Formats: sequence, C-alpha cells, structure tokens
Amino acid sequence: MGNGKTIVVGAGIAGLVAAAYLAREGRRVTLLEQSHHGGGNMSGFRRGQWYFDGGDQSFESLGVVFPILEDLGVYDEIEWTKTRYRFMSPDFDFFLDSFESVEAALKDAFPHEPGIGELFSGVREVSAFLRRHCDPHSFPLLNDFSIGKLLPFLPELPKLLRWASYDYRVKACSVIKNPALRNWFSSIGYYRMPYLFFAGFWDIWIRDYWHPAGGMQKLMDALATKIEVAGGEIRWRTRVARIESRGGRATGATLSTGEFVEADSVVYSGDYRALVSGMLDGGVFPRRRAAELEKAKLTESLVAAYLGVDIDPEELGAKLDAHHAFWFPNYDALFPDADSGIGAHRSMWVTANFFGRENPGFAPKGKSTLVLQTYSSAEWQGFWRNGCIDGKRTPEYAELKETVGRELVTLAENFLPGLSSKIEYLGVGTPLSSHRFSLNAEGSSGGWCYDDRVSPAWRAPLKHLMKTPLPNLFAAGHYALWPGGVISAALSGRFAANLVLGRPMLTPIGR
Ligand SMILES: Cc1cc2nc3c(=O)[nH]c(=O)nc-3n(C[C@H](O)[C@H](O)[C@H](O)COP(=O)(O)OP(=O)(O)OC[C@H]3O[C@@H](n4cnc5c(N)ncnc54)[C@H](O)[C@@H]3O)c2cc1C
Repeated sequence: MGNGKTIVVGAGIAGLVAAAYLAREGRRVTLLEQSHHGGGNMSGFRRGQWYFDGGDQSFESLGVVFPILEDLGVYDEIEWTKTRYRFMSPDFDFFLDSFESVEAALKDAFPHEPGIGELFSGVREVSAFLRRHCDPHSFPLLNDFSIGKLLPFLPELPKLLRWASYDYRVKACSVIKNPALRNWFSSIGYYRMPYLFFAGFWDIWIRDYWHPAGGMQKLMDALATKIEVAGGEIRWRTRVARIESRGGRATGATLSTGEFVEADSVVYSGDYRALVSGMLDGGVFPRRRAAELEKAKLTESLVAAYLGVDIDPEELGAKLDAHHAFWFPNYDALFPDADSGIGAHRSMWVTANFFGRENPGFAPKGKSTLVLQTYSSAEWQGFWRNGCIDGKRTPEYAELKETVGRELVTLAENFLPGLSSKIEYLGVGTPLSSHRFSLNAEGSSGGWCYDDRVSPAWRAPLKHLMKTPLPNLFAAGHYALWPGGVISAALSGRFAANLVLGRPMLTPIGR
C-alpha cells in the first residue's frame, strides 16, 4: 500500500476523462486499455483510404460534456459541427430544424390526425424545461452545486419524476389516434425509453447534437494526449483480467498476461456485468446485488454498414442535406432478438450518417464515406451464426454480416437511389464486433436499458453505481450513472476522479 497511484481501467470517454482529471490534479495515474487506441464506443477507424466513426456518430452536450471538455482544454482544439437531422418515411420527409417545421410536416403528412399539436405542446414543455436549466455550454447545477442554484430546480422535481417513466410516455402519446403513428411515437428510440428522453430528444436533435471535425477518434486522441502531457501513463493493448483486493481494499490489477500492477485506488470503466462476475473475488458484491446486475437488461446493440462510395461529398451532401438521415419504412418498433427471423433487419429503420462535407480527409478526393446503422442484437440468429459472442468467426458469420450490410444498403436506396452501384468499400460491424472492441456485454451501446422499471441505475435522482463495496474501487462509465450514454459516461469520469481525490463527488468543474 502507499504507492500513491491510481489505475484507470478502460479508455472510453469515461476512463479518459477520469484519467485526464487525475493527471491534471497531479495524481500518479496509469490508464489500461485493451485496444490499440481510446474511445470504446466512440472510437473511429481507417480502412485503407476510408475513415469511419465506428459506433457513436455524434453526441449531445446538455451543458455537461462541453464544460468537461472545456475544463480539460480539449474543446477549443476541436472544430465542432452542429449536426442536422432528417426524418423520412413513405408519408413524410422533414428536417429537425425547429418545432414549427416538424409539427407542420407531421400535420401535412397526417391531415386527419388531431393529436399532433397536443403531443407537441407537451414536447415543447420539456424543451422549455431543458432550456431553462441548461444550454450546450452550461448546466448551472453542475458548475455551482449550491443551495442557491438548487432552489429554482426543486419545484420541477415532481414533474421530472413523472416524465422519467415510460408509462407517462404511453399516456402522452395516447392523444394520437392513428394507431401506427401512436405506436411510432410511443416506441422510437431505445426499448421503453421514458417520456423525458422521447420528448427531450426532439429539442436536443434540433439544437444540441455535435460532431468533432476530424472524427470521434480525433477527440479521443486529444483527451489521451492531455493525460500524457500532464504526466499520466497510458498502456494500450493491455487487458485487465482481475481487480485484486486484500483486507477489504483494492490493491491493483492483474493483466491478461499475468502481470500485476499495484495501485492505491482503482477506477473501473468497463462492462459492469464483468465487474460483478469474475473481475473481483467472489463475495465482494453482495450475492443478490451481483445476481441482479448480471441479469439486468442492457441497451440495444447496433449493426453498421461502413461504406466507401464513389460519390462526391458535395453531391452526397446535397442529396442528404443532413448529417443523420433516418428512413422509417413503417411505424413498427422492432428490436431484433434471439428469436427474430432471418429477415429481421429488412424492415427496420435505417440511418445514414454523413460528415463528408466538413471532413474531406474521410475519403479520397471526390469520394465519400457513409455509415448506415440500425438496432440489432448479439443473440440474433445464434450469435449471427457464430455460435457464441467471441471466439473465432465462422464463414457463416462472415456471409450473414455481408447479407445484412447489403440489406441496410437496400433500405438506404429508398432515399439514395443507385447507392449500391457506387460502393467501393463495404465493411460491416455487428453487435459481436461492438463486444469485441468495447468488451461491453452483448455489444450494448449505451449501458443499462433505459426502461425505468428495470434499469439498475434508476432508483432516484443522483443514485448511482459508482461506489463499490471496496472503498478505493470506483466504477465509472455509462453503467455507473443514470441514464447511460455519453453524458453519463463523461460525467462519471469526473465524479470518479473527485472520489479518488477524496473530494465530494459533485465538486464543481474547474480548478
Ligand atoms: C452506434 C452507437 C450510437 C450511439 N449514440 C449515442 C448518442 O447519440 N448519444 C449518446 O449519449 N450516446 C450514444 N451512444 C452511447 C455512447 O457512445 C456510450 O454510452 C459511451 O461512449 C460509453 O463510454 P464509456 O467510457 O462508458 O464506455 P466504452 O465506450 O464502452 O469504453 C469502455 C472502454 O474500456 C475498455 N475496456 C473494457 N474492459 C476492459 C478491460 N478489462 N481491460 C482493459 N480495457 C477494458 C474497452 O476496450 C473500451 O475502450 C452510442 C453508442 C453506439 C455504439
């Protein structure tokens, strides 16, 4: 004991933020990451001349992520693109530029539907709430957690709790009479996503979704550089097999090579299920709690087709006119699972993510990259005909992923006719790929399921899974702090650094 060192396990945004704060505060810190680079679900990759963001394609700040990046000196090093959304179906085609344009387009598409105005008046109430309390660069409660700042927020709490349930979303959407449309409003997004997120996302899609110019990997690399410049150590291609403990305290980590790295404190930002089942000595987590976490439902994983296409970015940009173009072939909410049929992805929504105009370096001159995505699941078709989530990939797996990649292209041809004839590179990332690159169970994209009935992180506001039974082992990442996603992950990194430094978790951003 007493080497004054902190180990951070995992260099997703949570681990990077935690290590960057710790290094900046003069703490001896070693970040251990199994991959060759940082980012986890937010990493990017090159295939030959093509660059792709692998998972998350852009993210919201909500007054949390940008202030953290500003505080760490990374925000100003990046040029930020405010992303534009477009929603298309056989009935509508609109941009999410303002509530007025969205409502007008939906009323135009469904002239006999009386409930759209009423539904959106509720959505606007949530938007007004968000705008009252935060903008992309500030969430006063986080920057100054004082009674003065807390008081105006308190009267809003009962409403907030109501909005935090999925049942309230179903109730709010019942004003829509068209059953297909009601189903769509009630179900788009992650499985049983509460009203707060459904309603809040319209506002966030309109004004607070961002992409770092140069790609997600550039942002992740910038965070890694901050750690090293401040004296922190990063060990890439280094997988932690176990977190060791003695006398009720964490003592360090054993790597997959057998090497032991000693530490005074540990921040673990990988998969939470792995933490409770195998990463620690049995009995560290109370058995019931461990069992609950092991079987807790996770957010959906996605399948992606990464395309290098012989289309000039200006031409593709003019056709899409958006960074995220969604095609909804129907108003069903399908979540492929172990029992779904072979054609499950053929009738799903698809999104085309395109940043070629702002990022000429993503493709050779006159060409573009495009990422098509939809929900999927690791267990679909017997783990994609691979038999299990890891292990050597079977030829049947390779064949199936190519087939599904082509199916996504066919879906995208509804709004980009002739796309298939322009493809020069096609790579497919499945939930098995997500699992391999992030080690997240089932290739989960955002942490625990958002369903308020089953999320282990959702009990009460500010309840979290960051503290573990070992007083010097802290969890960070999208599982550790409700609800999940980039905001939770980044914030949990800062909170974990505060806990390691012996400060109150909510200690404000800034020195
Ligand atoms: C397709 C997609 C779209 C998304 N869209 C959005 C969005 O629009 N908005 C939003 O808020 N969120 C979105 N998300 C979710 C968001 O990207 C994640 O919630 C967030 O990036 C999680 O960060 P993290 O640091 O907690 O974990 P991760 O990104 O999963 O990083 C964990 C890291 O730990 C490493 N690791 C794990 N175990 C070990 C070990 N034993 N030893 C060494 N290293 C280890 C992994 O290799 C990985 O690098 C999306 C995700 C995906 C996949």
